[in-house]
Amino acid sequence: MNSKPAQLTLSQWQERYAQLKAAGLQEPAYGGPILRHADQGDKRLGCLKFDNSPAALHLWNFLLTEEDRLRQHRTDGKHIVGTMKDLGTVPILVNSFDNMVAFYPDGAWWTPCLKQMHEGLFEIAAQQGLDESFCPVRAMVGAFVNGQHFPIPDALICSVGATCDDFSVAAQRVESLGHSIFWWEMPHRRTPSTTESSIALPCGFIAPQYQIDHLHRQFQQILQFLEHKAGQPLHPDDLRRTIRKVNHIRRMFRDIQQLCFTAPIAPMGSLELLIAEMLMIHFCSDMAQTEWILNVLLSEIRTRIDNAAGILPADAVRIFWVNPVADLYAMNLLEECGGRLCGTEFLFAHALEPIPDHDDPLTALAQMALSDPMAGSAFDRAELIACKIRQFGSEAVVISRISGASHCASEGKIISRWIQDHLGLPTIEIEVPTLSDSYRPSLQTRLEALIETVKTRRKS
Ligand code: SF4
Repeated sequence: MNSKPAQLTLSQWQERYAQLKAAGLQEPAYGGPILRHADQGDKRLGCLKFDNSPAALHLWNFLLTEEDRLRQHRTDGKHIVGTMKDLGTVPILVNSFDNMVAFYPDGAWWTPCLKQMHEGLFEIAAQQGLDESFCPVRAMVGAFVNGQHFPIPDALICSVGATCDDFSVAAQRVESLGHSIFWWEMPHRRTPSTTESSIALPCGFIAPQYQIDHLHRQFQQILQFLEHKAGQPLHPDDLRRTIRKVNHIRRMFRDIQQLCFTAPIAPMGSLELLIAEMLMIHFCSDMAQTEWILNVLLSEIRTRIDNAAGILPADAVRIFWVNPVADLYAMNLLEECGGRLCGTEFLFAHALEPIPDHDDPLTALAQMALSDPMAGSAFDRAELIACKIRQFGSEAVVISRISGASHCASEGKIISRWIQDHLGLPTIEIEVPTLSDSYRPSLQTRLEALIETVKTRRKS
């Protein structure tokens, strides 16, 4: 059943869902109306606008059923491994075992938003010593305490060293509550000296070779830990096979971004693009389904572009967005203000890059881990963002601060100044709290002012 691309409220999606089903829509096992998730507690969905395609329906249903999927994995006898902080690399190792599945407890970041703060995770975190002066990732501590949001993992692996203070504190608090963690050390990526052997990394950064050697040893230790938990060794060919699958998925997602960010008319909404990007860090606990959904999305996007169809006016201003938003509604707001997403750096650019084809798969993973934009300086990150801005033709930059996040206090200013000095683009810094409703007038004013600035620049 065809219909013009549009954005629908939750209640409008009910009618659309009935029409699609009547027309014979086939869904995966986790399918169903989006409304049911709101009825089960994801109240924020009632404030959002969703793309009207079956592809978007599958995407939302996949995202919002991850807890069920994890429980099913446990019932099926799989070990659940909580990988923490590195965002994108350790799950590749975990998912190479046929009796293990990885997920990020860090994803509890969004639970208070989805539940409109009715679930009490921030209150529990505060009782454990993490108040609102910490990043929303403190919700993870609450989820470990009440055990109501994801199955408590059978094993936990977390990086330390070049990570943010907020996460280090939250993870240490989790361990102090009795959840043992396997820690590994992430070095701070630095520019090599002229006398050092160096290596070019997947995100374009350069690092000393000895840091890769160090990370290789770290990954060997993680591998030994996992083999012990799994009760079986991992053959390197199994890891190579997983890397090939991951690269296929990453290339599909890069196609989605390239098409959506550069199409004359935005073929897919910012919210769905953000959700699709989130899948890339651990494939929402199912790589095969992630691949299937991205395929369906890609097909929908290509069809819309071929038909010169989209969901926003052709003059929507092309915005590069830095940092994920704690409140998903901010993505809708950007579009209501006249913008469209044309480039992102959501703190895990390294999870989108294809993994190098290296004889030693652990060396390849070490290179990916060291490509983490958060493992180096804010200037490195600004250069990475500039590179993507040139690729996508973004017209302005929104740097979205995360309430309480330790790195946001100074990093935003550095990135903003760098972009203005080197690219001459307008930038704004805004703060998006977990529920932004009371901030909406000021956020709207700031975004509209940026959009107007770009439109004025277009005329000059
Ligand atoms: S959002 Fe920032 S402060 Fe929070 S856990 Fe992630 S990197 Fe750390």
